[in-house]
Amino acid sequence: MSDCIFCKIANGEIPTNMVYEDEQMAIFHDVNPQAPVHVLMVPKKHIASLTEAEDEGLLGHMLGKVKDLVPLLGLENGYRVVINCGEDGEQSVPHLHMHVLGRRKLTWPPG
Ligand code: AMP
Repeated sequence: MSDCIFCKIANGEIPTNMVYEDEQMAIFHDVNPQAPVHVLMVPKKHIASLTEAEDEGLLGHMLGKVKDLVPLLGLENGYRVVINCGEDGEQSVPHLHMHVLGRRKLTWPPG
């Protein structure tokens, strides 16, 4: 989608601090990190939210990549994967993304 910030980042139109990239997705550092490690996993094709995601292969590919982030980002002590969805979920960017947060003790429940 032409005016979507995450489309532009994932497809290289806007430079970012990229952690990983393949033909289906990009992983980059969140601009406003909520933990010492806070990256975003973003599909290259525009999908507005998890509710609109119909490609289960893509979702599996994205989640399956998390295990590779563990040694890469030093998450051996644990981490959290978060998908905010819609208004009640406080999703602020309308392009599906998975937050991966770690390297601090994360509290529960979320706010
Ligand atoms: P959410 O509230 O779940 O939609 O998360 C959106 C996330 O995107 C927030 O954590 C923002 O800090 C992050 N964000 C917004 N713009 C950028 C950007 N240009 N580069 C990296 N992260 C961004």
